[in-house]
Amino acid sequence: MSAPELLAFDREHLWHPYTSMHDPTPTQLVTGASGSRIALDGVGEVVDGMASWWSAIHGYRHPVLDDALRRQTGEFAHVMFGGLTHEPAVELARRLIELTPDGLDRVFLADSGSVSVEVAMKMALQYQRGAGRPERTRFLTVRGGYHGDTFDCMSVCDPDGGMHSMWSGVLPEQVFGERPPALGGDVAGWAAGFRALAAEHAGRVAGLIVEPLLQGAGGMHPYPAECLRVFREVADEHGLVLIFDEIATGFGRTGTLFASEAGEVSPDVLCLGKALTGGYLTLAATLCTGEVAHGISSSDSGVLMHGPTFMGNPLACAVASASLDLLATGRWEEDVRRINTGLQALHDLDAAEVRVLGAVGVVRLDHPVDVAKASEAALQAGAWLRPFRDLIYTMPPYVCSDEDVATLCAGIAAAVEAG
Ligand SMILES: *Cc1c(COP(=O)(O)O)cnc(C)c1O
Repeated sequence: MSAPELLAFDREHLWHPYTSMHDPTPTQLVTGASGSRIALDGVGEVVDGMASWWSAIHGYRHPVLDDALRRQTGEFAHVMFGGLTHEPAVELARRLIELTPDGLDRVFLADSGSVSVEVAMKMALQYQRGAGRPERTRFLTVRGGYHGDTFDCMSVCDPDGGMHSMWSGVLPEQVFGERPPALGGDVAGWAAGFRALAAEHAGRVAGLIVEPLLQGAGGMHPYPAECLRVFREVADEHGLVLIFDEIATGFGRTGTLFASEAGEVSPDVLCLGKALTGGYLTLAATLCTGEVAHGISSSDSGVLMHGPTFMGNPLACAVASASLDLLATGRWEEDVRRINTGLQALHDLDAAEVRVLGAVGVVRLDHPVDVAKASEAALQAGAWLRPFRDLIYTMPPYVCSDEDVATLCAGIAAAVEAG
């Protein structure tokens, strides 16, 4: 099929994320991707400001990742994980245990971020049952969060501003605290309210689930690291399982390898995804402590009741281990700092608010963005961006050169102007 035929078929028959079949937003045809760039039909090469939804941290067609995938393809692509295991899964688990915060040494390999959050929530519920507290069936969280699109995940997403408000009445009702303050905001005031809410509902709550340090798809909202210690204290005080969803923040994005490190806090359960495979394949992981694992095994069933068909997919595990080896060189730290410096230029824009944290740059307008217009203006400036609500932002691959970062800033400026 020619490019126009491909696009016409796509428009008629394919769902894209969060779009209408009647009136879809324009879709670009990708013809290639290499390093920090993607090639678009009729446009040419542009700098990828989105890193394929924050996952392609090492860029596209990285020789080390390509090679890991090719080698595993030559062995075997997939086997079931029930009753079988393999070196790629064991090697990945070993690396994850070594890299993640202290105490997290049991690993569940899931096939997407949402599934890893479902598993984390199930872990908390089964742990409480094992502890003789089956009445604890709710979750405590904060407003403004995003944890995925499956139903339990949606139930802990922002109940008002988020994309799931249409499901109120269908979803389990969870307990929502105020969103943590912005950087430099009143942590003590927020913490007092959050502690009071936790005390009021604790008897029915199994776990506390949050995105540490940066709320992503719920509004690109960075908040002070001190809040992480408040979450840990509240969980300890009331016997809640503390779940950190680092699917967006994990693997260096906010400036530390894991966002939880900024608050020197270890959760009881940790969700990883997105950048886990360097953006090559879908894979996620839920890590928990021995205590949580032991509690689950003391529940009625004695087992963790979950097991996806493609659990521990060897291709995905092999490429994930190769991505972690690239991170282990420490080069990412310098790259993230360098990108952070380049993104400071966003502060010169005329916008309602600018937020820069690690390799994340966010510009908030005082009105909803015209996504089609803003994206088109960014493309003309050489950048691929995907704004949402009133936000134009970038989370680029760490391999972006200083010139690429300047292009992204120019793209954001053009999008602000147009959108
Ligand atoms: C993207 C994301 C998810 C969902 O992951 P999927 O792989 O899209 O299912 C969950 N939590 C956070 C914080 C995310 O950013």
